[in-house]
This record gives sequence, structure tokens and C-alpha cells, in this order.
Amino acid sequence: MPFFIPPPIRLTKKCERCAQRYPWSAKQCVHCAHLSDTQLIELKQRIAAEAKSSRVLGLWFYVLAALLFVILLLIKV
Ligand SMILES: [Zn+2]
Repeated sequence: MPFFIPPPIRLTKKCERCAQRYPWSAKQCVHCAHLSDTQLIELKQRIAAEAKSSRVLGLWFYVLAALLFVILLLIKV
């Protein structure tokens, strides 16, 4: 018998300092509470770089999907 476990509802709040989300139950931000100001700048740069690379990856998936669509059209005709 297949059973389904619902994903736990994760309450999060946004950190004022690093703009990341962290669990509501945590007293301090799990991302930046232990970081100094210079380390925080590095963290923000890393987050920005990761966001940029995931956008590029998303674009590649879009191109790939469009390409597959065209191939499917060509096969059907
Ligand atoms: Zn933070």
C-alpha cells in the first residue's frame, strides 16, 4: 500500500541582515549570525553569484525544452 507523508510545514522568517530565510524557531539567523561584517559581504556576493548561475541554468533548460518541442514537431510531420 503506497503511503504519503506530507512535507512538514516550515515556518521561516527573512533575515534583516543577509536577506536569507531561516527557521522561525531559530533565535538568530542561521546564515549570518556567526559572521562578521566582512564575512557577511562575502556571503552576499556568493548568494548573488549562485542566483546568477541558477538563472543561466534555467535559461538552458528553457532552450532545451524549446529544442525538444521543435524536434517533436518535426517527427510528427
Ligand atoms: Zn542572516
